[in-house]
Amino acid sequence: MATRHRYSIGIHGGAGNRPAPAANIGLIRESLRTILEQGSARLAAGATALDTVVHCTRLLEDDPLYNAGYGSVPNSAGRFELEACVMEGRTLEAGAVTYVERIRNPVELARRIMEQTPHVMLAGRGAGDFAATNGIATVSQAYFQEGWHKYGRADEHGYGTVGAVARDCAGNLAAATSTGGQKGKRPGRVGDSPLVGAGTYADNEGCAVSCTGWGEDFIRTALAAYLDFLIVREGLEAHTAARIAIEYLVAKVNGNGGFILVDRTGAIATAQSSTYLHCGWIEHGGKPTTALRSPIQIARAEG
Ligand code: ASP
Repeated sequence: MATRHRYSIGIHGGAGNRPAPAANIGLIRESLRTILEQGSARLAAGATALDTVVHCTRLLEDDPLYNAGYGSVPNSAGRFELEACVMEGRTLEAGAVTYVERIRNPVELARRIMEQTPHVMLAGRGAGDFAATNGIATVSQAYFQEGWHKYGRADEHGYGTVGAVARDCAGNLAAATSTGGQKGKRPGRVGDSPLVGAGTYADNEGCAVSCTGWGEDFIRTALAAYLDFLIVREGLEAHTAARIAIEYLVAKVNGNGGFILVDRTGAIATAQSSTYLHCGWIEHGGKPTTALRSPIQIARAEG
């Protein structure tokens, strides 16, 4: 019988500089723990990393505590434009969606695009048309309006993008990220979350990573791809790569945010330059940990 490697999983519920309302902190930790446990049970039963990150991201999208799916924040015109990406480390296949206004679970649509089209990303109306002919659940803008107003989140700054990374028992990696984007963003703005190599990346030889924060900073530094490069080409272990990448983000663009990654050995690392990073992980099939801050924090200049 082939050796079964132990699995690892990491999830995040976004980075920010202002604390979430005190009343929501316990709910966030509880939600992260529940979703981690679900992901872990699946991986332990032999689910693939891809299935698991999509499943966990869908649960995060359905929870109005976060800025993704149901709880997405509006743009400057008061409309909800959602984005997501999924990537598989074995094949480097990826699927992404941006500028969708009626998709309940953008991560499901991203996966469908990856699996059923020769393309990586669909946007706007084309993405909606593809969803309609592929049995993807649609909702009205009122659905997102409702989610955003739950838990007093309409008063918040707008962080809370979600993501998941996993290494399955067969040693395959996958990553997913989903967001409503920056609160008050210009209509049509595309962030880092759906962009392969910026907010999301997965490569079996290196790592699977999901980023959160000021998207433009992650796009300009290609941060997710940079992390993979540090592990694959520089041979760094996960925590060293995480520290170097967050230092690079700050040194180059005074970047604001953080990420969670799992490397090919199943090591989990997170790092942040923001004040908060809501995240949780299970490493090598062990016990769940949830945190409001990453163990690796780098200060950035204010403003
Ligand atoms: N990175 C996301 C974006 O810029 C937002 C976030 O992570 O909070 O769209």
